Amino acid sequence: MSKQSSAVSQAALEQAHGQARQAAARAHAPYSKFPVGAVLQFSTGDLVLGCNVENASYGLTNCAERTAVYSALAQGKSLADVENIVIYTPGKTVYSPCGACRQVLAEFFSLDTPFISTCDVGEKTWTLGELLPAAFSTFEATADQVSS
Ligand SMILES: [Zn+2]
Repeated sequence: MSKQSSAVSQAALEQAHGQARQAAARAHAPYSKFPVGAVLQFSTGDLVLGCNVENASYGLTNCAERTAVYSALAQGKSLADVENIVIYTPGKTVYSPCGACRQVLAEFFSLDTPFISTCDVGEKTWTLGELLPAAFSTFEATADQVSS
C-alpha cells in the first residue's frame, strides 16, 4: 500500500499538529516573525521536531522542515520509517514548503510521502511528488532523459 493511500489517523495528525505547534514556539524567527514547526512522524510512533532558525545573515536561515530532517539523521533515525511530514504555521493560512526544503525532502523520502501543512483553522495535504514533480536526483538519471 502506498503512503498516499494509507489514511493518517486523526489522533496521529492531532498529536503531530500539537508537537509542530510546540516546535514553532521554539523557532528563532526575529526577522521574518514567521515561526514554523515541523514534525516527522515515524511508523514506530517516534516524532522528530524541527523549527526554523533564522540568522542576521538571512541566507543562513534554516527552515523547520530541514531542521527536522537533519535532526533525525543526527539522531540515527531511519528516514525510511517516516510516514508523513507535518508542519504548523500560526494563523489562518496553510503554507507549502519552500523550494530548498522540497529538494531536501526529495533526497530522503519517496514521492508518495504525505506533506501535511496545518495552521490554526485547517490543513492541506500534498505528496512530495506533487510538490516537486521533477526533483533533481543524481541517482535516477536514465538514458531516455539524456539527449544524444
Ligand atoms: Zn524551507
